[in-house]
Amino acid sequence: MAEEAAPHPLVEPGLWVERIGSRVFSPGRPALFLDRDGTINVDTDYPSDPAEIELRPQMLPAIAAANRIGIPVIVVTNQSGIARGYFGWSTFAAVNSRVLELLGEQGVSVDMVLACAYHEAGAGPLAVADHPMRTPNPGMLIEAGKRLDLDLKRSLIVGDKLADMQAGQGAGLAQGWLVDGEATDRPGFAIQRLCDDDDRDGLVAAIEKLGPDA
Ligand SMILES: [Mg+2]
Repeated sequence: MAEEAAPHPLVEPGLWVERIGSRVFSPGRPALFLDRDGTINVDTDYPSDPAEIELRPQMLPAIAAANRIGIPVIVVTNQSGIARGYFGWSTFAAVNSRVLELLGEQGVSVDMVLACAYHEAGAGPLAVADHPMRTPNPGMLIEAGKRLDLDLKRSLIVGDKLADMQAGQGAGLAQGWLVDGEATDRPGFAIQRLCDDDDRDGLVAAIEKLGPDA
């Protein structure tokens, strides 16, 4: 399809890696990793229409805190809708641009976006089961870590699925926040719940504790 001919930032057929903006970060900084659908924006089940995108305002203070102290905000999102043939990378691009635009309108920004299209239910080169880049595998976080020279151990992840937490744990992070989930202590990884305003304040405090860039 012509749709796939656009010059998208694909490093392989099923992996999008895009640096957003020009903010510079010192080596060894932690990052705030964020799932997209169901975390930054309302999950409308394979969102494919930019007009339907609606932010979840609960995430804005955390992104603002990360922007303020100078740690990269990195979106890591599974997009199996592409492997499944529901939409293509150009549609992903349009939807994602809308997410970033809405965030910008709220005065916050993202520094990198990684998206993984692989899924076993796909066709052609995207039909890969258990791809290392697809969460719960940690590939996207590790890739971002290499590109931005991150301290993954001190980095934080927020998501609405256990798979997001597993990816964080697999990448060597120590804690994650699970939207509408329950707090759980796993060996070497603590899951915090992110349900109410107190939880949100706790997340902001954890981000602020990472300290300003030197
Ligand atoms: Mg999600």
